[in-house]
Parts: sequence; C-alpha cells; structure tokens
Amino acid sequence: MSSPGCELPAVLSNSRTRVVFGAGTLAELGTITKREGGGNVLLVTDPGIVAAGHVDRAINSLRNAGLKVTVFDGVEENPTTLHVDAGVMAARHHSIDFLIGLGGGSAMDCAKGINFIFTNGGKMSDYWGVNKAKKPMLPMVAVPTTAGTGSEAQSFALICDPITHRKMACGDAKAACRVAILDPDLTRTCPQHVTAAAGIDAVAHAVETAGTTKRNNVSLEMSRQAWTRLDAAFEKAMRDPHNDDAHAVMLLGAHLAGAAIEQSMLGAAHACANPLTARLGITHGIAVGVMLPHVVRFNCTGDDNPYAVLSNDPEALAQRIETMLEAGKLPRRLADCSVPEDILPVLAIEAAKQWTAAFNPRPVGSGELLEIYRKAYR
Ligand SMILES: [Zn+2]
Repeated sequence: MSSPGCELPAVLSNSRTRVVFGAGTLAELGTITKREGGGNVLLVTDPGIVAAGHVDRAINSLRNAGLKVTVFDGVEENPTTLHVDAGVMAARHHSIDFLIGLGGGSAMDCAKGINFIFTNGGKMSDYWGVNKAKKPMLPMVAVPTTAGTGSEAQSFALICDPITHRKMACGDAKAACRVAILDPDLTRTCPQHVTAAAGIDAVAHAVETAGTTKRNNVSLEMSRQAWTRLDAAFEKAMRDPHNDDAHAVMLLGAHLAGAAIEQSMLGAAHACANPLTARLGITHGIAVGVMLPHVVRFNCTGDDNPYAVLSNDPEALAQRIETMLEAGKLPRRLADCSVPEDILPVLAIEAAKQWTAAFNPRPVGSGELLEIYRKAYR
C-alpha cells in the first residue's frame, strides 16, 4: 500500500486499542489472540460473514496458533438483548476466556454485549451508560468486515431492546478491544450497496464528531484525519473492489472516525437516524446519509461553522456529502425511503430523546428536529 492516507496516524498511538493494519492481516488473528492471553475463544459473527469464507480463515488462523474456538454466528443487524443472551449461553457452555468480534458493527457490538453479561451478570440495561461494570471483563479482538461503524475503536456496545427497538449505548473502558485488525481484503469483497451505506456512516461519524459540544483537540484531529481519508477514497472504493489502497484508506478513515466518537460523541444526524431504523427498519447508514447534509446546513447559521476543521465553507461540505450519496447510489430524500410523511412528528419526538441529540452543536428539541426531517423529506 503506497497511497497517501495508508500510514497509521500518530493520533492513534495513545489509543487503548492497538491497530494491526494491512492486507492479509486476518492471518495474524491466531498469534495476536494467543499473545493477548486467549486460549478458549468465542468468535462472534453473522451468517453472511460465514458465507463469505472469512470465518473459516479466522478459525484456521486461531487453530494453527493452538487455540480452542467456538463460533457464535447468530448475530443479525441491529442486535438485541436476545442475540446477546444466545451468545452468552454459548460462552457459558464452553467456559470461554477470550472474545473475537468478526463482522460489521452488529457483530462487534454483540461481542461486547456478550462480554458485559458473561463477566458481570445481570441484564444489558444494567450497563446502559458509562462504566457500570464492576468486575473485570474478558479481553477482546475486533476484526471489522466493513469500513463503517468504527465499533472496533469504541468501548460502547449498542444493543437494542427487542420490544421498543431503542438502542442502549453501554460503554465501559473494560469493553474496549485490545487489538483491532484492519484487513482491507475483508472490506474489498463487500457488495457495493453495503460498502456505500457503511462508508457514508463513517463519513457521518467524521462530520458529526467534528462539530459536537464535546469535541476536544484529540477528537478534532481524529475527525479531520478521518474526513481527509474518506473524502479522498469514497468514490474510488465504490467504483472498484480491486482498488486495494482505496479500501485500505476507507478502513483506516472509518476507524479514525470511530475513535473520534469515543471522545466527541455524535449529533443530530444520528439522533434523527435512530428512530428511522427502529420504527421503519431503514439501514443505519442510509438513514444517517439522508439526514446528514440537512443537519450540516441546520447547524451552520449566520457565521457559525462548527465543522471548520473539515471545511471553511459549510454549504460546500453539505454538497460534497450529497455527491457522495449520489456516487454510492444512496437515497437523498426520506420520501424515497418509504417514510410516510405523517409519521415525521412522532419521529421528531423520539429523535429528541436520543442521547446523541444532546451533543449537537446547535441545541435541538423535537421542534427543530421536525424542521430537519421536513427538509430531508423532499
Ligand atoms: Zn453511525
């Protein structure tokens, strides 16, 4: 890999999670896991990742290192406490001592959720918030198969309530991964629509973290470095599954954006997206992508530009995001996502209750969020 943006930036050197980055690094999973103290591993993943052959390659690497492996492949998109409970059963049955999350954000979040309950007992809602686990947790390695959520950089598990579909953000320093393996060979082979939705989610993380009320110098540097990479590589990765460098740069950009969330949280685009996913089943990245240009414009009034670290022209930033949506063949209006218009006021009330709404640079209540939804509608 030789393109600009392929080098590991210094801003990651103080992270809790060590990054192993490069094409083919999945083959190092076994030796890395062994070095981190694993002996009896639960590999958490989903059926799509099994079908893609990634799980077999992971198992081979782990067994070659002399490790015992149990696979839990019952994860689905937006995992609920039911998925976590099923994984905990497998963990208990095999008395595991190490967790691996292999997949998109759903598999990595589910692995973290399993870690909370397996080590600390109780139920997922007991850990809703920050640092509520009292006992030690198992070490974990994450291997993302999409350049998207950046969950491998975070100590948060996002787990849904199976009845209300509300996302519980359960964060704990002990849940952070020891190592993240960023192997662009895994993300290259994703279907184009998955690459697009995941990629625009990463873009939204870079943009929203750059503007929140919680941003700091470290998170701003992460947001900036994430944006530079995603901006440069998005179209190339979309067009060409064989462009190794573009996929590598996207994966690193998504990781940096995920690391920025850890410090800076998120904003109104994520607050608006969550009810669209919970109520109408719209894929997270698609929902975030539709909302993001409108949130950028809403947050930049008069001379205010909370995104100055990314661009000194907020309208140009919003238009650049719209170009990315087009390049990814992603919807640009809620009306194109089968959203009934009369549900917008209900969504706005739910969006106002999302934890991310509190960190948006411009204060938002249900009235402001309804205004943003209406702008995004047509
Ligand atoms: Zn997101």
